[in-house]
Amino acid sequence: MAAHPLLDDLRTALGDAAVLTDPDLLAMHARDEADLCAAGTPLVVVRPRDTAEVVAVVRAAGRHGVPVVPQGARTGLAGAANAVDGALVLSTVAMDRILEVDPVSRIAVAQPGVVNATLGGAVREHGLWYPPDPGSWESSTIGGNVATNAGGMCCVKYGVTTEYVLGLEVVLASGEVLRTGRRTAKGVAGYDLTRLFVGSEGTLGVITEVTVALRPAPEESLTLVAVFPTTAAAGTAVANIAERGLTPSLLELLDRTHLRAIEAYRPMGLRTEAQALLLAAVDTGSRAADDLARLAEVCTAAGADEVYAATDAAEATALLQARRLAHPAMERFAADAFPGRNGGLVIDDVAVPRGALAALLDGVARIAEECAVPIGVVGHAGDGNMHPNIVVDRADPASLERGRRAFDEIMRLGLDLGGTCTGEHGVGLLKRDWLAREIGPVGVRVHQAIRAALDPAGLFNPGKVC
Ligand SMILES: Cc1cc2nc3c(=O)[nH]c(=O)nc-3n(C[C@H](O)[C@H](O)[C@H](O)COP(=O)(O)OP(=O)(O)OC[C@H]3O[C@@H](n4cnc5c(N)ncnc54)[C@H](O)[C@@H]3O)c2cc1C
Repeated sequence: MAAHPLLDDLRTALGDAAVLTDPDLLAMHARDEADLCAAGTPLVVVRPRDTAEVVAVVRAAGRHGVPVVPQGARTGLAGAANAVDGALVLSTVAMDRILEVDPVSRIAVAQPGVVNATLGGAVREHGLWYPPDPGSWESSTIGGNVATNAGGMCCVKYGVTTEYVLGLEVVLASGEVLRTGRRTAKGVAGYDLTRLFVGSEGTLGVITEVTVALRPAPEESLTLVAVFPTTAAAGTAVANIAERGLTPSLLELLDRTHLRAIEAYRPMGLRTEAQALLLAAVDTGSRAADDLARLAEVCTAAGADEVYAATDAAEATALLQARRLAHPAMERFAADAFPGRNGGLVIDDVAVPRGALAALLDGVARIAEECAVPIGVVGHAGDGNMHPNIVVDRADPASLERGRRAFDEIMRLGLDLGGTCTGEHGVGLLKRDWLAREIGPVGVRVHQAIRAALDPAGLFNPGKVC
């Protein structure tokens, strides 16, 4: 079969090494980490190194009418980075330079393929801190974090990615280069186009440069563990912590399924008979010990049957590590649940007002029973943002169907409680229907109008978001 004429244009613009058509590589770039989402086989994967090359790629794809799917590290959990058949996958892995760290303006400028942890390390050398810390921080990219508006554990106090994005450079479908935002501490010129692109999941343009705000490194933190006899009691404690005006720098929940999965994966003496554990930290300097005591008081009043502070930094790090192991431990748990078959996780993401957290947790337990699927719950409790992890046997259509039903019921419950269908993982392919229900027909039309204005031919990331 004759090679697609786009490939010649790409090789001329980028050189052979940046234009990849090896079938194994194409298969590798077909999808992100989400389950339950369709993925096609791309025609080609390209790895541009700078903005000029991205412009050349977008212009060539536009000329040949080939859709463009931007990809960072493909750690996404909504199918937003999945290829469609015949697409051009634009991978940002070779755009991995930190262009500037300015300690006076407290900003950093980076290409989109810089890994979150790499940026964190680079700014730390200047005594500065880039707070957004998704669980995938060691692999996910700044471009992907911006395109999904990623959250993380410290976001309960310090806010999510959008709070830190000051400006962007974006290649539009026309091939023009748009610069949004500013480098200054303040600035209100024009519409806030930066925020329009944050969370746009590759549907409005290719982000080629990101300017982020930095903070001074945080104070040392103190850590507390509270063990609860029910998940709902842990949810009540979270609401009461907020009501008392306390500002933990971390407030995470692990349910019994996760405690058991983590203990089986890496034994560390977790209380596996508990129904839920809250992990909290405070970084309020000279007030930290008092604040920790107030957190402990609230947890006890909400029904915690054990509350203890980490004795030293090593214990605090081990507890945080336990939380970070939730994902691989649950993957193992799911595999072990169906020996010799294909056990896996449907990772959900739902956020409700903090006051509704207890009702969400009770509701998820009920849904697990009704749908006859194991569901473990973990997440950023302080933000009301939970990840119900639904355990399925991918080789069994009936099990998948039960998992799908549980997923839909959780989405319905989240919206009924005044929440949103995604707190941080995004819409992608997985939640298109739920986004439409959440924002209604007018909201969908406005989304589509913005998209059509910027990308009339529908070049970028077809089928995603709306
Ligand atoms: C173990 C694990 C833990 C996780 N923990 C968290 C968490 O705590 N919080 C959280 O929010 N997420 C979490 N995630 C989800 C995921 O890591 C985030 O969504 C992350 O921001 C995706 O970054 P990425 O580089 O992998 O992007 P990808 O998955 O490659 O892409 C994600 C989206 O961004 C678009 N995109 C990527 N780069 C660009 C660009 N330069 N221009 C335009 N669009 C672009 C893609 O088209 C796609 O729509 C986790 C995932 C895993 C596997």
